[in-house]
Amino acid sequence: ADIKGSELPNERLVYSAHVQEPGANDNATGVGTQLEMAKTTAKLFGENKIAFKRTMTFLWGDEIVSTNRYIQENPERAKGIKWGISLDMVGENTAVTGGTFLIEKMPDPSAIWTRGNDKHSAWGGDVLKLENMKPHYLNDFITSTFKEQGEFANWVVETNPFEGGSDHTPFLQADIPGLLLWHFTDQFYHTDNDRIDKVSKETMKNVGTAALVSGLTLVNSNTAFALEQISLLEQKAIDRLQTEFQLSVNAINTGNTIENEKAILEAWEDWYLKAISTTNDVVSKSNGNINDAIKESQSRVSLKSQELIKKLNTSSKN
Ligand SMILES: [Zn+2]
Repeated sequence: ADIKGSELPNERLVYSAHVQEPGANDNATGVGTQLEMAKTTAKLFGENKIAFKRTMTFLWGDEIVSTNRYIQENPERAKGIKWGISLDMVGENTAVTGGTFLIEKMPDPSAIWTRGNDKHSAWGGDVLKLENMKPHYLNDFITSTFKEQGEFANWVVETNPFEGGSDHTPFLQADIPGLLLWHFTDQFYHTDNDRIDKVSKETMKNVGTAALVSGLTLVNSNTAFALEQISLLEQKAIDRLQTEFQLSVNAINTGNTIENEKAILEAWEDWYLKAISTTNDVVSKSNGNINDAIKESQSRVSLKSQELIKKLNTSSKN
């Protein structure tokens, strides 16, 4: 299902939910939440309540096969896919199923060096390499929107480093920004006890609301959005560098090499510098305000990184 964009119809956001699994949580919750999102979107569109500058697409199909087909069968259309958001097991009553709601991030250095508050889910993931990184603003944008809903509704929102295995992977393989909304683990997952009594309608509402608010923002994103994301990313970069610095000081004290720890800080710096520059993708022409903000933000992030790396050198000499 599509709602065609009024200004940039060839640019689109694609939501996806897989239909082939028979469980209530996996994945009737993804299918149903996305259906409710589509109905709400159609209503907003019909009543002229909100602009749709770009196209919004809802896909239901066979897991991975369907998103992969959508990308492969029409290369011209694929060029216009700007974001992919996948819904898989999004309605858990975690008091019964265990686990938490998770946003699986696009590959960032937490998928190489998983430490501190970053944890893989019980699904697990391969250790990625630097060349697998996908720096982009989508991770922090989606996470901050969901955290707002979490605060509002007293709902726990966590993230996990990239693992793969659902509808988001074909997007990433095609170099399209994509991430996964899901829960893990669930003690009833892939058993005949994955029934409606394990589902929370509050959770479905929370996921659907935050996913739709995120999507409506993305399809209408403009210069103001880019500037907002630049300052969000700068703040997240500095927080991240400080956290990793502290972890690295501890790691050096317990025998890790300074070279290894420097490489971690540099990887995060590099990831964020590149992520900041991706904010340019919401405007069709080069925009001086955005370009200036990107440069200024990047130089502050680099400065912070250099300062912390210098501190790491001196702390290790003591
Ligand atoms: Zn599934």
